[in-house]
Amino acid sequence: MTTPTLLALDFDGVLCDGLIEYFETAWRAYQRLWADAPSQPPAGLADAFYRMRPVVETGWEMPLVVHALMQGVPEAGILLDWGAIVQSYVQAENLVPAALSAAVDGVRDEWIAADVESWLALHRPYPGVSDRLVQVLASSTTVYIISTKESRFIMQLLQQQGVNFPASQIIGKETKQPKAKTLREIRQKLEAEQAQPIATWFVEDRFKTLQAIEAQPDLNDVELFLADWGYNTLEERSLAESSDRVHLITLQDFAQDFAHWLT
Ligand SMILES: [Mg+2]
Repeated sequence: MTTPTLLALDFDGVLCDGLIEYFETAWRAYQRLWADAPSQPPAGLADAFYRMRPVVETGWEMPLVVHALMQGVPEAGILLDWGAIVQSYVQAENLVPAALSAAVDGVRDEWIAADVESWLALHRPYPGVSDRLVQVLASSTTVYIISTKESRFIMQLLQQQGVNFPASQIIGKETKQPKAKTLREIRQKLEAEQAQPIATWFVEDRFKTLQAIEAQPDLNDVELFLADWGYNTLEERSLAESSDRVHLITLQDFAQDFAHWLT
């Protein structure tokens, strides 16, 4: 099967490069949460944050990455053991993920309300991605975006890029469930509508998310793609390359016909 019936795409790190906005938002949220934060980020912090981006699954972890870097936690340790670091912070400093999340969303909401242009300007579509998305939307393939970002932000960014994407096919952070579950639900819905097996392809830049889907027996026919242009490490890309389940895909192949994707 060289054409998917359902193409599910992650947003950040697949369709949109929001690294600069990510750091700006993380820094502002960090300043709100930690009263002793300096007025300006120290030199090199943004670059260190960009390198640590692969560990972030959900927005509330962003100010925690800044906190860890400000405390001098070694980058190698963050990359290797982020889950444990998060747990220790949450316990030792009595941090509530919902409060961290509210700080991040609050920063974004206020920024967008005050100056949406400057916020949008910090996001860039990866080259060729918007055109490809428009092509797929016009084809027989049904395309969904599954993201841990809020749908309303995704809508705004796609509109800015000239992509008229159906709102009902953007499943964002507000669904509050793992991507595997969302993928399963979309597939079941399409199966019921189309009364045929749904060839499903999923493109994601977070390797751990692909591994989580790999662990679901009922999703074992989903073709999994790791976007090599997104937020993942060299080590994760080489794991994908040697995996018999996950395909490593380049931006160049992504921009081409589906037949190029599986080679
Ligand atoms: Mg991503």
